[in-house]
Amino acid sequence: MRKNRSNQYCEEAGRFIPGGVNSPVRAFMSVHDQPFFVKRAKGSRLYDVDGNAFIDYVASWGAIILGHADEGLIAGVAEALRDGTSYGACHPYEIELARLITETFPSIERLRLTTSGTEATMSALRLARGYTGRNGVVKFRGCYHGHVDSLLVKAGSGLATFGIPDSAGVPADLAKHTYVADFNRLDTVESIMEGSDDIACVIVEPIMGNMGVILPEEGFLKGLEALCRKRGVLLIFDEVISGFRVAFGGAQHIYGIDPDMTCLGKIIGGGFPIGAFGGKRRIMERLAPLGDVYQAGTLSGNPVAVRAGLYVLGILGNASGEVYPRLERAGQTLSKEMVSIAGRYGVPYRVNSTTGMFTGFFSETPVTDYDSAAASDRVLYERFFKAMLDEGVFFAPSQFEASFVTLTLDQAEIERTVAACEKVFRSIGSVR
Ligand SMILES: *Cc1c(COP(=O)(O)O)cnc(C)c1O
Repeated sequence: MRKNRSNQYCEEAGRFIPGGVNSPVRAFMSVHDQPFFVKRAKGSRLYDVDGNAFIDYVASWGAIILGHADEGLIAGVAEALRDGTSYGACHPYEIELARLITETFPSIERLRLTTSGTEATMSALRLARGYTGRNGVVKFRGCYHGHVDSLLVKAGSGLATFGIPDSAGVPADLAKHTYVADFNRLDTVESIMEGSDDIACVIVEPIMGNMGVILPEEGFLKGLEALCRKRGVLLIFDEVISGFRVAFGGAQHIYGIDPDMTCLGKIIGGGFPIGAFGGKRRIMERLAPLGDVYQAGTLSGNPVAVRAGLYVLGILGNASGEVYPRLERAGQTLSKEMVSIAGRYGVPYRVNSTTGMFTGFFSETPVTDYDSAAASDRVLYERFFKAMLDEGVFFAPSQFEASFVTLTLDQAEIERTVAACEKVFRSIGSVR
């Protein structure tokens, strides 16, 4: 694989941008490599500055679902651009997007748009604290909710440890209000709630995507909902990845949960910067200008991002219900083939998957939480990642990320991916 130009850009970027990247995961550090630089993207492919093409399973970390540079989206956005790029004033399209989202998510009675997923979770947290008059936040180890101070806390090992900052620069005075529980372990949530009457909310990715894909076990989300109700703690679903991906109505539709608040992002902006948080009217109307919780944004509800999002959601919601079964089939085929090839070459590998996303873990045992995910073989993943890239297939540069399927991924690309896996697993298996 040629990398001359990317390597040059990499060096140049490092002279102006810390680590050469505007978001750390892009640096390929956890796989001890250097990133390629993208020239353009189309459909399921990325094309880099050295002329390499990759089948793309990162898909802008899940923000892309139609495929890159969709022609209908481009036409819609071109029209939007001609009407101006930002107003700092109201426009009808934001109502349309809010209506579509509230109609799709019955738990969302009111919502507000932001510019990123991080802003959505940050605002939801502030609102939960303002509404309940409490400070504590419960999160789950391995769940990522953007780079919000209160949520950059993962805590040590063991059960429900008292929060310790995961990032420097987060005041301990703030981090002490963050309690960390274990996904799929209701008892860890219960013991936190028993130990404190200051818990404002529990925030969770109902289907974990940020430790790789980890599904909630039977009864976990229902139990969480019941625990929260019992104690007057708000339940916040972070569906920034899962919303409109695992189903049109997100994970809450699949599992039949009625969270108090929901955060959205990624897909709903069609590849433009956006986020949203919404929920019960009585909570949401505590926001300024109606209420006493302040929240704002110059580019919130940006007309171009909103119209791009409306276009994407129009396709996902329409299309005679064909979209999600198609995503599901593509993911299923890939998962099954990859597991079976790995098995043939004696490579410890298993896949967690749901509609539109999956993660292959290099692990002998089922992956159900942070610990079992963290026990995966990162060295094998690194070899897999590099060899697949050489074969023209781009998986995330970390074991602990989801792979995303887009609607443009076709049978030929699936077969190419499988053929590449055959080669790569054979070589990994022969060395082990
Ligand atoms: C990506 C992500 C966020 C943060 O969204 P940004 O747009 O990157 O700020 C929050 N929660 C989850 C679950 C995410 O995957």
